[in-house]
Amino acid sequence: MFRAINDALPVGIFVLDSNLRCIYINPRCQQITGLSLEQSANDGWLRIVPEDVRSNILEKWPEELPYRGEMQLMLPDHSVIWVNVLVTAFEEDPASGYLGTLEDITERKATEATRLRRLRRDNRDKSRILNSITSTLPLIIYKVNAKGIVTSSIGAGLKSFGFHDHEIVGRNFFEMYPETADIFRRAMAGEVVRDVSSYIIDGKEAFFHNNVFPDPNNKGGIIGFVLDITSVRQAERELMETNADLQKARRRLERANLLLDASQDLSKVGGWEYNFKTGKAYGTKQMFAIYEVPEDFVATYDNMFDFYEEDERRILKEKLAIALETQMPVVFEQRLITYKKNRKWISGTFLPMVENGQVMMMRGAVMDITKRKEDELELVKAKNTAEVAALAKQQFLSNMSHEIRTPINAIIGMTHLLIQEQPKPEQKEMLEALKFSGDNLLSLINDILDYSKIESGKIVFEEVDFNLRVFLDGIRQSHNLQAEEKGIRFEVRLDDTLPSVIVGDSVRLAQILNNLISNAVKFTQKGSVEVNIRQYKQQGSDVWIDFSVADTGIGIDPSVHDHIFESFTQASADTTRRFGGTGLGLAITKRLLQLQDSDISLDSAQGKGSVFSFRLVFGISAQQHTKNFSSIVTQYDSLKGHSVLLAEDNEVNVLVATRFMQKWEMDIDLASNGQEAVSKVLQQHYDIVLMDLQMPVMDGYEACRLIRAMPEPRFKEIPIIALTASAMAEIKGKVIGAGMNDYVTKPFNPAELYSQIRKYLTI
Ligand code: ADP
Repeated sequence: MFRAINDALPVGIFVLDSNLRCIYINPRCQQITGLSLEQSANDGWLRIVPEDVRSNILEKWPEELPYRGEMQLMLPDHSVIWVNVLVTAFEEDPASGYLGTLEDITERKATEATRLRRLRRDNRDKSRILNSITSTLPLIIYKVNAKGIVTSSIGAGLKSFGFHDHEIVGRNFFEMYPETADIFRRAMAGEVVRDVSSYIIDGKEAFFHNNVFPDPNNKGGIIGFVLDITSVRQAERELMETNADLQKARRRLERANLLLDASQDLSKVGGWEYNFKTGKAYGTKQMFAIYEVPEDFVATYDNMFDFYEEDERRILKEKLAIALETQMPVVFEQRLITYKKNRKWISGTFLPMVENGQVMMMRGAVMDITKRKEDELELVKAKNTAEVAALAKQQFLSNMSHEIRTPINAIIGMTHLLIQEQPKPEQKEMLEALKFSGDNLLSLINDILDYSKIESGKIVFEEVDFNLRVFLDGIRQSHNLQAEEKGIRFEVRLDDTLPSVIVGDSVRLAQILNNLISNAVKFTQKGSVEVNIRQYKQQGSDVWIDFSVADTGIGIDPSVHDHIFESFTQASADTTRRFGGTGLGLAITKRLLQLQDSDISLDSAQGKGSVFSFRLVFGISAQQHTKNFSSIVTQYDSLKGHSVLLAEDNEVNVLVATRFMQKWEMDIDLASNGQEAVSKVLQQHYDIVLMDLQMPVMDGYEACRLIRAMPEPRFKEIPIIALTASAMAEIKGKVIGAGMNDYVTKPFNPAELYSQIRKYLTI
């Protein structure tokens, strides 16, 4: 029964004698130890007890009864097991032997060991983490007991306070940090306190986040957990400052943008930019305002060209291409059609932005110049209107002068004729007075016409070859008579060194000299009038000539020297009464010289005579040898045998001209208009034709053109002299242009008419 129970027991049972020799092991024990009854008998069981504990067991067991312990066994198959052993004395007397139980706890031990290993590893990891935390993070962990004495302190944060781990252990916290005493007291009283305090460390403000709470294992004590947040605070502050800076910058940018917009708005200048790399375009507010595009308009490289008409677009693209190629700024003025279909003028620039030799970006400015362009167009219009008005005025004057000159021509012409008809002496005197008044009236009209022409800037100076000596002969002859009549000596002196043929405007030079000489003769009662022409210098193909007209007349008070060159002014109030005149002569003279970059000077005093002088530059003609004939003659040789056709519609002019030509014994034929003149020239041979310009049916120009257009050579050769009442200088060009040889102005001066006819007749 006992054996049966013993066999069935789940616990191993063994019996040792008083000498620790094995007497019995039950089957379970045999199972656990792997030993049979025989194998374990006597000292056999000791083989499974590891040698290092064997002696220990042999000594300890008898003394520490009942012995309870765990131990390892090494089984015959070399496996190691853990067993729980209970050894008691058999029947209370150790001498009678021992009874022991054996329990296999290998499995339990194994799980325990892994748990332990895991626990150890966990602890190791935790402490490593804690270490790294406490040694790297600005952290302090400390314990303070109820008396305020620090019992433990670790953490890199201690360094901020100048301590190492545990260095403050043993010191009184209240004394060390009185400023945080309140927090400690509250925590000691059981409260969990969290707060941020600041300390001055090394002259710098440092911030700490305190977490203080009661120590659960130490009544009245506290555990503190401090985090140094100075750098966080610093970063925070910097961030705030950066933010403030950013905001400031943004505000500045906004202000700059506002200013840009305002100034662009004022100046009507817009700006834009196109990035070739990103393909992005940007335009300022004013740019969009100029193009009148809506706010959400997206400008691109292409669509900005849509605002131009085809031709304008082509030009603009060409300019852009130039800017791209030359990498230099290009300026343009273009017409634009805005988004709202308004027409505008813009002036703009392409400004290439070059990087590493490549145009990376194109910038530009656009200015609305519509107003300026409109003003310019207005100005052009106004100028045109003014020009048209001036032309109309001149046309009017020309017409008027024609209208007035025609009757004057008649008066002067008839007077000429009458004087030559051997009148009675008292009649001659009256006729001379009539001629004087007529001449005066004519020169008055010529002066007014001339002056208005000069003032309207219409005067053009000719560049024509003329023989200076012949020219001066003419001048001399036209004043000789008058001087002779007054009994004053009149002389024209010419410097021998002067070239014979010079290039310039002889008509204007004659006008100037005639003005000065006629004044000199007019204001001189006795003595002389001297005209001096001297060469000042020659340079290249130009010659500078000094002219002076000196008289021994009444002279001019220096106080009025400037005054007399103004229009319509005379030296004294009684001049007109005594001498006549309009006061235009000197004004015209001065203007004519000014227009040729010269001026007139006067040396005179009352009663001392006057000297007027000026200097003009002329070209020297390459053609120095010309036929030396006098243009003005006083002796009329007979022109018998020469035929002339006079085409003139004005009966008085016909009368005057025929009378003269009859005196020269010419064969005269008449035509009263251009058409008649042409048919007569075609039918008959004339030696010369005198052609009035303004005639009914067909004017002189047309008639001349028709004659010259005839195929036979004689129609090309026949001399045609124009008769003109116009004082316009341009008339000469027109006359030559129509194929005429020369012209004679009306009223006919017999000498002039004679010399012109004579010049073209082959005698
Ligand atoms: P006018 O047609 O009245 O002569 P001018 O302009 O030729 O007008 O001359 C203006 C004035 O200057 C004359 O009226 C006269 O008083 C004065 N004057 C011009 N030339 C002379 C001169 N050689 N001697 C004295 N006075 C002169």
